[in-house]
Parts: sequence; structure tokens; C-alpha cells
Amino acid sequence: MEIHLKNLFTRFQDQFGSGPGLGPSSGTCLLSVEGISPAFIRSVFSASAALYRTDPWKRLRPSHLFAIRIGKDSDWSLKKQLYPIAQFVGGEGGDLGIHMFKSELDAQKTTGLRETNRVPNVEILRVVFTPQSLIFPSNKRMIRSLSLESSAVDQYPIVDVARFSSGGELRFRNPTSEEVRYVYAFLKAIALVHPLLQVGNNGLQRRGRLVSFEPFIETVDVQWPFEVSKAGELVAVTISHPPGEVYEEKKRARTPSPSKYMEPPTEELSLMDIRSNIWTILRKCSMCEKEVNNDQSLCCGHCRAVIYCGSICQRQHWKEEHKSVCGLYKAMMEREEELTMSIFNFPCFLEHFCQWLESVGLHQKGMWRRKCSCYSQYPFGLLPQNSRVSDSWGGLKDGEYPPDAPFLNYHDRISNPILLSGWSEYYNIRSLQFSSPVAVLLSYPLTIYHILTSLISSKNRLVKGKEVIVHYIGPEGELDLMPAFAEMGHLLNGSGSIQIVMIGPEVPSNLSSTVSGVGGRVRVNLVRGLYQDQASNLSTPHVVVALNCALESYGSWGGALEVIKLTGVPAFFTERSERLCTNGKQVLRGAGLHISHPVMPNPFRSPVRDQAPSSNLPCYSNGFVFGVNT
Ligand SMILES: [Zn+2]
Ligand SMILES: [Zn+2]
Ligand SMILES: [Zn+2]
Repeated sequence: MEIHLKNLFTRFQDQFGSGPGLGPSSGTCLLSVEGISPAFIRSVFSASAALYRTDPWKRLRPSHLFAIRIGKDSDWSLKKQLYPIAQFVGGEGGDLGIHMFKSELDAQKTTGLRETNRVPNVEILRVVFTPQSLIFPSNKRMIRSLSLESSAVDQYPIVDVARFSSGGELRFRNPTSEEVRYVYAFLKAIALVHPLLQVGNNGLQRRGRLVSFEPFIETVDVQWPFEVSKAGELVAVTISHPPGEVYEEKKRARTPSPSKYMEPPTEELSLMDIRSNIWTILRKCSMCEKEVNNDQSLCCGHCRAVIYCGSICQRQHWKEEHKSVCGLYKAMMEREEELTMSIFNFPCFLEHFCQWLESVGLHQKGMWRRKCSCYSQYPFGLLPQNSRVSDSWGGLKDGEYPPDAPFLNYHDRISNPILLSGWSEYYNIRSLQFSSPVAVLLSYPLTIYHILTSLISSKNRLVKGKEVIVHYIGPEGELDLMPAFAEMGHLLNGSGSIQIVMIGPEVPSNLSSTVSGVGGRVRVNLVRGLYQDQASNLSTPHVVVALNCALESYGSWGGALEVIKLTGVPAFFTERSERLCTNGKQVLRGAGLHISHPVMPNPFRSPVRDQAPSSNLPCYSNGFVFGVNT
């Protein structure tokens, strides 16, 4: 092209072109980015669409710069954040989009009064929303073949990297797969965060003045889609405005009611959407206990352990109590990896039990019915039983569940209770496949067995082949897991016997005072009522156990602990998280008991990590064990 014509065209574009920004469609196409799967492209398009519908351009202009931090610097190949500064362009006309920059200086140099300054060699990672008619054929084909979600009627995002050459020419390239991941996490996070920006007092409502926002910093967890990461992996994204603002510097004159922040950003999240997602994951704000959709919850940026409905609650909670435990929680979060069991081949993280059960093909089957809420109309202990063992285990195949039969490998050994160190050993001697999730249900009987054989150090009756009486306080769902408890009998390997007395208010009255032999060597007696009321009618136990007991949550523990103190019988407790252990120990000390067996991770905890509604702390059924009078 002739040089003068080119200049003319440039001026023409300047004047009548697409307004602020760099214009639409660049000819790049995500399908040709190496390492980006079609499924991830779909996720990027749906994240773009979700953000588009929150309409950030209504309030945000290019001069409103945001600082972004996605995960750790070391997560990225350059060992630094790829594009740590972002702005929204097009709010005053022209194509709506997002520009992301490698530095704040780049952003400032490039941000002109009306449009983007042509600064040579500045790279801009862009998302530009473009009408279909202006989209290059390659992108049209991609949208059709992958049936990608549109952001609005006839609007699709184009992701590319733009750069002016030293001659002022505009060049585009495809983003790298890493850059696409970066922009994805930003899209997800900013959609949640930007509605929380509060309009500042100065400059407000004066004509022609740009709205200014109060300093802001927030961290949200974004879940990588399955296509780019292991299931359930989260990345913390911190967004601040203006860049460099820190949390402590925030000053807040008025405190609006937290409910304000419960409103979804726009009408985007209609009741319809919530209903259409049958496994909506609800979290609970640690401060106000309000339920908040998982996608819209925030967590403490330092420890990442506690959930909030919004920044107001976070600030209040920080002042009132979180400040003193944030460091402790951070340490607990750092044990995530240590607690993860890597020997199993089934999903070991769940957000919703129904969903997890679906994923392993066991939803609403056999004993598994007790693990989700689908059968909650049946009281504990009254779930209709299956007659065949394999049906009790949800129709698992041979080699996937423990047959109600002796341990074959132990036939020719001396009859002694089998001592186990953990799941790996158990699965091996039972010849179970590591794809079998039965550990989730066996956690209850095997935790008891572990306590009986390993944790009671002095005069261990069971190891010596004698009878052991166990008082099992507060059973609930366990009442429907009797086929799993039968496994304890086989582990005894022809020696000793166990009498378990399950005592609790959840024992159904028609089953109270009944005995079920769940195997020749294991008997289970059921007693309805509170332990403190019933203990005197029962024979003295050798050990008391309470699983997932939530000592801090129930006032009735006071009476039970008094009995344990009076009798001096060893008692073991399991709790789901370390935080619950810490609080539980306080309850025990308060009752005058001494913790003689310190808190330890339970080798027979459920391998599936779940989460408490208001916390991200590592949480497992029977996760940790500790004891008194041992
Ligand atoms: Zn709240
Ligand atoms: Zn914290
Ligand atoms: Zn269910």
C-alpha cells in the first residue's frame, strides 16, 4: 500500500473507526493455539459471556486500572505474573473489551484520553467482544464447530496479543496457552469482584468527571476447569484498585449492610440458573452465616481458609476474631498436600456428595444412599437393607468390595487380629483394587479397629485375643453401615471378639435394646438416649469412641465427658478438621480431661476430601484422632 494512502486510512480509522481501543477482530484464532483444548476454549467463552453480562463497562473506564495476581509467580513459565495490570475499554462507545498489560507503566503510556496511544513494543493481551459479522472466517468456523456460547446476541470474544511496531503498525499474534489460562482466571475473578467496587466520595456526580472508586483489594478462588487441571484445583486471584493498594490502608467511613453484597452482580444469576444447576454448591459466610453461591464466595486472601459473602463481612470478621487465627489456619492449609491420599484412582475431592457418588457410579445405591441427602426421609438406622453383600456395596464387582469372608492370605497364619498401618496395606491384603471407593464407608469400622489394635498401648485386650467392649457414642449414618462393620470380625482373624454398644439419641426407638451380630465375633447393641443417662445401665467399657463428634458443637457432650472423666476409661475422638480438633481439645480440657493421645491424622480417614460450608481447611470424615485417659 502506498505510504500516503496508508496514512490516510489510519486517519480515517482514527476518526470513524471503532472508537477507543485498537479495533476489533485481529485474525487470530484460539483453535490454533498449541495446548488449548476445544473444551477449554468453551470454558473461556462461557467465562467471557458471564463477565460480559455483568456489564463492567457501565462504570469502568480505561483509566480505572486493576492490579492482578493469579496464583504464585512460580506458576508461570517466566516466574512472574504475565499481565498484572488490566483495564476495561470501550465503555464510552466502540468495541467493549479488556486490555491487559505487562506493567503499570505500559498501561499508563498506552491509555490515551480518547483512545489507545500507539506506543511501540508494548504488548497488550486483549479480549475484544466483536459482532459476528466482523469476525474472521476462522473464528466463525470455530464458533460453529464448537458451538461456543455467545456473550450477547451476536457478540463473541476474540482473544489475542496486540503490539505496535516501532513504525506504529499494529501487529497481532495468537496468545500462548499460558496466556489464555491467565486471561481465563482474570475473567472469572473480575466478574465476581468488580461489582464490589464502591464509588468514592470525591468527584462523584460532577458532570464530565470520571467516577472514582474507593481503594479496593479482594482475593477470590477460581477453579480451573477440568481441561487444564486436576479436578477441584483452585487458584487464588487477587485484584486491587488502584494497583498497589494494600488492605490495611483502606479506610471506610460508612458500613452498609452486608446484605447489599449478597445481590448478584446483575440479573445474570436468575433463580432459573440456580435451579438448572442441580448441584449448586452453597457456602456459608463465616461472619453472617448467610448462604452464598460457591462461585460468588470470597475467602481470606492470606490463609485462604475462611469463606465470606463479601468484603464487608471479611473486614468485620478480621477485626473481631480472624486476625488472631489467620496464621494458624494458613499453617493448617499448608498441610493439604501431606493429607492428600494419592494411592486411590477415584476422585478424592468432593463438593457435593450426590455429584461425587454419580461420578463413581454409586449414587442412590446400597449403603451409599446414606452418604447424600437423597434418602434423608429415612431416619438413621432405618434405610431399607439389601440382602446381598454386593448390593449393600452398591453393586460393586468382585475385587471392588470386601467379601463377607475371611482374609484368604491369612489362612495359614497363626490366628491373631490383623494389624494394619493404613489403607494401602488393607487394600493389598484384601486384594481390593485402588479404584474402589469402599474406604469411604470402611473408614468408620476401620477407625474403630485401628483404635482398638494400635492406640491403646497398655494391656491391649484385643491383641491378646480377649473380648473388648466399646461404647460408641452418637452414631448417626453409621447405623446403616452394618455390612461394613462386619469387616471388623474378619480382621480379628479367628481371635478375640468385639462388642460395640452404639448409644445416642439418633438410635431409632424400635431398634433400641436390639443386638445385631454383624459377624460371629462382632456384636452391635443399640441403645437410644444420651450417654450420660444410659451409661450406668451398661457394663463398663474398655474404650469409648466418638467419630466425627464435633465436640464444640453439642452441649450434650458435657454430660458424656463427665462420665468419661469419672470412669477414667480411655476415650478416643475423631474430628473432620484440625480446627475442630483445636476447639475439641479446649472442650476436653474444660471438662477436666487431659489429652494423653495428641491429635494425629487418622490413617483410616475417608480418602475423599470434602469441605465445611464456611471453610476451605482440609476436611475428611474421621480426619484426625486424639484421645484422653489412654
Ligand atoms: Zn457475610
Ligand atoms: Zn485468614
Ligand atoms: Zn444424592
